[in-house]
Amino acid sequence: MTAANAGLRPKFWELPLDELNSEEWEGLCDGCGRCCLKKFTDEDSNEVRYTRIVCRYFDEKTSLCGCYEARTELVPDCLDVREMNLQTSTWMPDTCAYKLRFSGEELFDWHPLLAGSDKKMAAAGILLEDRVISEEYVHPDGFEEHLIRWVKA
Ligand code: SF4
Ligand code: SF4
Repeated sequence: MTAANAGLRPKFWELPLDELNSEEWEGLCDGCGRCCLKKFTDEDSNEVRYTRIVCRYFDEKTSLCGCYEARTELVPDCLDVREMNLQTSTWMPDTCAYKLRFSGEELFDWHPLLAGSDKKMAAAGILLEDRVISEEYVHPDGFEEHLIRWVKA
């Protein structure tokens, strides 16, 4: 790359996922935590339905996984986004930065990488904040009582 065209290099969040280094890959996550909500497939419509029940390992204070390195061993249905394919991508929320880039779409303008902080993201209602309940406090038969609909991104 010459000095003349160095400024033309796309931002890393505009590059194909397989061109990201580890730091860029981790930096792409918006930290929304939506992927940590419990979900299931509706038998009638075949749609993925989300609940407000969050994984027991999700830390609501930091919006981070409390067992990141061991997550796929401790939680068998925890999706490693590096392994995402067309089928498993349906399990990720439509706002997910990885799902968007996997599909060749641009990030939303509220993404902290574009907005510079998570304020715009919070205003858009993307963060889980205090609207969730840990699976520890919900009987497994009661998940359907906690179905949610996403606000428009
Ligand atoms: S194990 Fe971690 S990353 Fe996976 S669903 Fe639970 S909190 Fe989220
Ligand atoms: S839904 Fe996607 S962008 Fe949001 S926390 Fe999960 S992996 Fe990161």
